[in-house]
Amino acid sequence: ASGYSLLRDPRHNKGLAYNEMERDAHYLRGLLPPVVLSQELQEKKIMQILRQYTVPLQRYMAMMNLQESNERLFYKLLVDNVEELLPVVYTPTVGEACQKYGNIFSRPQGLYISLKEKGKILEVLKNWPERSIQVIVVTDGERILGLGDLGCQGMGIPVGKLALYTALGGVRPSSCLPITIDVGTNNEQLLNNEFYIGLRRKRARGEEYDELLHEFMCAVKQQYGEKVLVQFEDFANHNAFDLLAKYSKTHLVFNDDIQGTASVVLAGLVASLKLLGGTLADHTYLFLGAGEAGTGIAELIALEMSRQMGTPIEENRKKIWLVDSKGLIVSSRLESLQHFKKPWAHEHEPVNNLLDAVNAIKPTVLIGTSGVGKTFTQEVVEAMASFNEKPVILALSNPTSQSECTAKEAYTWTKGRAIFASGSPFDPVEYEGKTFVPGQANNAYIFPGLGLGLVMSGAIRVRDEMLLAASEALAQQVMQESFDKGLIYPPFKSIRKISANIAANVAAKVYELGLASRLPRPENLVKYAESCMYTPAYPTYR
Ligand code: NAP
Ligand code: MN
Repeated sequence: ASGYSLLRDPRHNKGLAYNEMERDAHYLRGLLPPVVLSQELQEKKIMQILRQYTVPLQRYMAMMNLQESNERLFYKLLVDNVEELLPVVYTPTVGEACQKYGNIFSRPQGLYISLKEKGKILEVLKNWPERSIQVIVVTDGERILGLGDLGCQGMGIPVGKLALYTALGGVRPSSCLPITIDVGTNNEQLLNNEFYIGLRRKRARGEEYDELLHEFMCAVKQQYGEKVLVQFEDFANHNAFDLLAKYSKTHLVFNDDIQGTASVVLAGLVASLKLLGGTLADHTYLFLGAGEAGTGIAELIALEMSRQMGTPIEENRKKIWLVDSKGLIVSSRLESLQHFKKPWAHEHEPVNNLLDAVNAIKPTVLIGTSGVGKTFTQEVVEAMASFNEKPVILALSNPTSQSECTAKEAYTWTKGRAIFASGSPFDPVEYEGKTFVPGQANNAYIFPGLGLGLVMSGAIRVRDEMLLAASEALAQQVMQESFDKGLIYPPFKSIRKISANIAANVAAKVYELGLASRLPRPENLVKYAESCMYTPAYPTYR
């Protein structure tokens, strides 16, 4: 290949880092200025440029341009500056990028599969330049973060999630495939926008939707085999639960909004027991919000109780209560409930609001997953503090504006007694001379390691036991120095090590369940996980 095309190939481009020998061997003489710049210096330079931008979207676009021009440098930046750059390539900035997607992208990323491609989806997959795909993240754009229906412009989400699979979990970039399925949008603003990039029609529902999704799932298996992981991302809950239930029988599928959230929150709860004492089953849980996140977390808690105590899951569910937009979920509402809420309809008189529910149920753990901000009011939090020595308060709704309460409110209203974590990041809080560091229940703790564990063992199905294994591994990574600050999650800067440990624990479970196709089982799974992980250092081209 010519030196000119080498410089334009993002996978092999090293910019000014080509040494003298490479410049001779690959016809690069004269195409580059004379200086040879190390990857470290390139990194330093780009970080300086990024920090000069004051508008988050500028940083996002600079990162996307880097990904498209020099992939290894992009990942080097992301790996080395994960805490700083995660909010750029992922939430919250990616949300704004999706909202403006039609106007900002220069080169399309990922694969678009719309109703126009019905009957031809296998051909579409064959147009993708890479053959060996290990992880697909797919969205239909109906519930992008907390921003609602963004239709075809949801593509930023699979692109961003897969960048994290690589940076945090070490899955090779060439084996990652972002996909957006376009069945229309109900977002009037987009439908009326002359620059909208998607199908200009209302969302397909029912059979038309199911058929397209089914063709897609079949084509994926036909093209990439049994071992490709399909992660469903940001589907609305009326489709998410059904797709997961249907395809978990025949494919390697995972829904991060339901299962990844559940796994990361369970890990935080298990870790919090170190501060609280007792077991999961000694606690009473109340959720505000009974959708993908709420019922997903609730179910995994109940399952873990069963695993620990040997008790039937139906018994454990009785320790967990959920409130939705119509009040406490109770048995008298059973008929009218969506199916994923039915297991949580316990015997109780109707209760209309959260405060009354808190006073009636007297939970030890309060979890917010409704997407509605400021719902953990002073009264609610003070009630929690009145009957709990250390109330556990998890305000998970994103973005920051939707948080149920702030870290400061949680610590102040409980007089410094709360064990608090949130979905969006909060700065440390000073209260009466003590510093409290709130943890972030970020899904990025779990899905990259989980994905790596599935991929490296050649798993052919995801089972709940694997989610529990991921959760357990994450909880084990929380060290005393974190607990001392009130933290129930480990520091994010050690995420590659955390992911390797999660991957190993997940893979061990895959082997144990007989669902692994990579045989024989490697002796030391942590070492093996680390050896599988993509590193962004430049190779030398001979
Ligand atoms: P979802 O499936 O749409 O569920 C939302 C639930 O909240 C529904 O049960 C809904 O009730 C309920 N709700 C809405 N408004 C309410 C109100 N005013 N009072 C009480 N309940 C109300 O959404 P999701 O996927 O579960 O996500 C929910 C939130 O969790 C989002 O903000 C998301 O960002 C956050 N989240 C955080 C993490 C994390 O921290 N790692 C992970 C995932 C999600 P109805 O069923 O009655 O409509
Ligand atoms: Mn999501």
